[in-house]
Amino acid sequence: MIRIVFLRRKCIGCNACVEVAPEHWVISGKDGKSYLKKSRQRGEYHLLSLPDWEYEKQARAAELCPVRIIRVEQERSRKS
Ligand code: SF4
Repeated sequence: MIRIVFLRRKCIGCNACVEVAPEHWVISGKDGKSYLKKSRQRGEYHLLSLPDWEYEKQARAAELCPVRIIRVEQERSRKS
């Protein structure tokens, strides 16, 4: 699994992440910032776990984000 960590507060609403992966990202009609669908909030971060095969697309969204507020992490499934 991968995990997306998104600092929504700093979003400038440029739409780049939505263009890359509209199934997971949408611009909110309320405040013009991107929303990570089905994410849960922890503090000021929004988190979402996705299967490994989503990695490339989400990493591309992170790369294109001009304010660098999307992070894609590999989730550890068990402790070694
Ligand atoms: S690419 Fe970054 S700044 Fe642009 S809408 Fe998505 S999260 Fe916001």
